[in-house]
Parts: sequence; C-alpha cells; structure tokens
Amino acid sequence: MPVPQIVWLRRDLRLADQPAFTIAAAQGPVIPVYILDDETPRHRRMGAASRWWLHHSLKALEKDLARHHSRLILRRGKSADVLAALADETGATTVHALRHVEPWWRSAERAVSARLELCLYDGLYLLPPGSLTTGGGTPYKIFTPFKNALFERLDGVDLLPEPVLSSPEDWPASDKMADWDLLPRNPDWARGFAEAWTPGSLAAHKRMDAFADDLGPYRQDRELPSIDGTSRLSPHLHFGEISPRQLWHATEGMTGEGPGFFRAELAWRDYAANLVLQFPDYGARSYRDGYDDGLWRDPQTDEQAAADLKAWQQGRTGYPIVDAGMRQLWDCGWMHNRVRMIAASFLVKHLLIDWRHGERWFWDTLVDADYPSNATNWQWVSGTGVDSNMFVRIMAPLSQSEKFDAGEYIRQWVPELSGLDDPYVHDPASHFCRPEDYPAQLIGHREGRERALESYRNSKA
Ligand SMILES: Cc1cc2nc3c(=O)[nH]c(=O)nc-3n(C[C@H](O)[C@H](O)[C@H](O)COP(=O)(O)OP(=O)(O)OC[C@H]3O[C@@H](n4cnc5c(N)ncnc54)[C@H](O)[C@@H]3O)c2cc1C
Repeated sequence: MPVPQIVWLRRDLRLADQPAFTIAAAQGPVIPVYILDDETPRHRRMGAASRWWLHHSLKALEKDLARHHSRLILRRGKSADVLAALADETGATTVHALRHVEPWWRSAERAVSARLELCLYDGLYLLPPGSLTTGGGTPYKIFTPFKNALFERLDGVDLLPEPVLSSPEDWPASDKMADWDLLPRNPDWARGFAEAWTPGSLAAHKRMDAFADDLGPYRQDRELPSIDGTSRLSPHLHFGEISPRQLWHATEGMTGEGPGFFRAELAWRDYAANLVLQFPDYGARSYRDGYDDGLWRDPQTDEQAAADLKAWQQGRTGYPIVDAGMRQLWDCGWMHNRVRMIAASFLVKHLLIDWRHGERWFWDTLVDADYPSNATNWQWVSGTGVDSNMFVRIMAPLSQSEKFDAGEYIRQWVPELSGLDDPYVHDPASHFCRPEDYPAQLIGHREGRERALESYRNSKA
C-alpha cells in the first residue's frame, strides 16, 4: 500500500494551482489537514472577521474535496505536535505545504521540519518572496523598482490544473467544525458579511471571471468608493482560494491602463510579503527612527486619546468619509482601498494615535486581514515604513471625499446623512447642516494638522 502524504493547509485553501496538492497526489493517497493553531508561541491569533471567513472557506473546500471522494481533516493545537501525531496515526512520513512568510508560520515550519520531512513549495505569491533582488544582490525595499523587476520577470505564467486525488485506506479522525466556534453568536455581528460574501474557490473564480472581463475602466474606477470598481478578491486571495498567478494569467495579453494597474496592485501584495520576509516584525515596529518616542497620544494613559480611538473604531469621528469607511468595515469586514488610506491617515495624523492600534483593529475586523499587506500599508500611510509617504504629508479627509466623489458611499453607510446632497454630505459641519444625531468633528482639520506637525517637530527635536 503506498504511503499516505499529508497536505498541511493554512492560507492556501484551493485545489488548482496548489503545488502541495499536485506533488503529494503524484506520490500517494492524500490526507488534507487544516490545523487551527492558536497555541504555537508568538502565533498571531486570527481575528474575529477572518474566523468567520475561515469557517465558510473550509466548508467550501470540503465540498471541493468531496468531488474527489476526499476529505478535509480538522485538528486543533500546535501545528508541529498535531502533524507529528497525525503522521504516527496514519504512517505518513512526509508533509507537503506552501511556504508562508509570516514569522509565526516560519517558526512553525521550522518546528515541523525538526520532526518530519516537510516539503515546502511556493504558491502564495506571483513570485517566491525573496527571489527578486537588486543589482547589488540585496532584497528590494522600495516598491517601484520591485514592481518593475517583477513585471520583467513574470512573462507568461503556467498554471497547475486540479490534481486527481486518491484517498488513504483509513481516514484519521477529524474535529467537528461546529466545535471550533469560528462564527459569532450573541450577538451575531456577521449578518452583513453573509450578504456581502461567498467564500470559497468557486465564488472566487466567478468573481475573477466577471471582473477580468472588463478591466478597461479599472484605473479610474478603483479610486471611487461609491461604485463597485475593484475586484473585491482580497479575502479570496488572502485565504488562497484563488492564486495571484491565476489572476495574472486571466489578464495576460490584455493591454491598456486598466489591466496594467490591476497587475500593479497584485505586485503590492508580493511587495508586502517581500518586506515581511526581510523585516518579520514589520507589523509591530516602526522602521523609521524617532517615531516611537513622544509622537503619539497613548490611549492606555490618555483618556481623551482612548475616547478618540473608540470613536474612530465606531465610525463616529464627525468626518463622513472616515465614518462611512469604518462602518462599512464593521458591517461587512471590508473597506474600499481609498477609504482605508483616508481612515488610517486620520487616525495616525489627525488623532495622533499610534498606527499599531489601527493595524490591530483592522486585523480583527477585516475579512482580508493579511499580516504583510496590513503592516505594509499602515506603515506606508503613517510615514514609518521603509518606503513611505512622509509623515508631514497629511491627507485632508474632506477634500479627498469630494475629489473621489464619495457622496453615494457616505449616504449608504452613514444613514444620518442620507438626506444630504453633494456637496453638504462631505462636510455637513461647515455647511451648518449637520443632523443632530451625527457627531461633531473630534478635531477640526486645520487644528488636527497643526497638532500633528507640532508633535512631529517636537519628537524630532
Ligand atoms: C491601512 C491599510 C490596511 C490594509 N490592510 C490590508 C489587509 O490586511 N489585507 C489586504 O489584502 N489588503 C490590505 N490593504 C490593501 C488594500 O486596501 C486591499 O487589498 C484592497 O482594498 C482589496 O480590495 P480589492 O480586492 O477590491 O482590490 P483590487 O483593487 O481589486 O486589487 C486586487 C488585489 O491586489 C492586492 N492589493 C491591492 N492594493 C493593495 C495594497 N495597497 N497592498 C497590498 N495588496 C494590494 C489585493 O490582494 C487585492 O485583492 C490595506 C490598505 C490600507 C491603506
């Protein structure tokens, strides 16, 4: 009887273009396993919104595996312990998995390979993180040259088809997903999620097909929160239900600005992984000197800062575009990219609150919460990253709202303002038409800007 092969799944929940499945299937019967690992030391626990997604994504994968008369084994615990136990139970000696860049996954990979044969493959990104280097042989720190190098290297993408899977003679026991309590209860805050999303590879491919069909206007449309102008594939990509190479492949041969800009966005995702491979603590440490000393107001010691942070989280800052974004995030676990930038900048600059508080809130509330992308974007907005906007470049939320025509978006997410027309809806305070149930601004734009610049000057001094 051929020896069974374990496929260790993490955020690579698909069958096609998934080298761990392809290679394992060529070597013997396959045992796919997903381990809910909240126990490995320094493991970053998955946020609540991601858990909602995970539940549905695993259900979808179970269905996909059932087409092959295969199963998904669920286990909970430290990855290395669980895999070693599973190998003992089944006689398997080899574990196949895709290489991850998150520091906790890298340490789990080391722990597994100390006990079993672990075969790691690339498949989460367009190119293996770390494979692109500058002329001097060092990893890239700046996005644009990284993107140019990636575009040059990625010419023609071959995809792996879904493999044929055979089953082991006996299936090992599996946990019941219901016992994992991944879904919220009392209160069920995820009702909006179910309306907005269908997790799983099938839905991801449908979304890709519909979106890639008409990428012409993407360059302009992606900036406008009031329309459905972006792919909304980020959670599918994060959980690996679709591979970035499948997306690249779908747009290959398409010319023009739309497809080009879309591929550049995919390059940002690779770039973020490339940074986290170089700087594993990128989600926890500012990478420009002088940012951690005295610049921020600390919500742990400053009551007003704590109240401001809460108002930001709840979408009650008095800035309609920020509040619309934060309420969209709470309602469906996702926020438009332009609005993410505005809301993040507002927290860090107008409210002078350390970017890590925002990063943590996004981590818990986004269905696409992704350690490399989240860290890279927060550091970019804050001016603390290795390739960042300057701190002193402060976004004006009210004019951004007008510029990117966010009126309809605001009316959708901030019902108190749904009766206001443009231009009042962008800035009800200055037009004296703020409805009573809509909060006053936490701080005026000019005042916030000056406070931020002064704090920056003081911290530098
Ligand atoms: C403060 C902040 C935090 C963010 N946190 C995350 C996060 O946790 N997870 C996440 O996936 N994205 C994050 N982003 C990036 C971006 O907002 C989302 O990827 C995008 O909004 C997803 O929507 P979409 O799939 O419709 O994007 P599209 O415009 O359709 O882009 C296609 C894909 O490209 C990738 N992409 C696009 N923009 C970026 C970017 N700036 N950085 C990295 N990848 C990008 C995503 O995988 C996205 O699905 C963050 C941005 C900001 C400003």
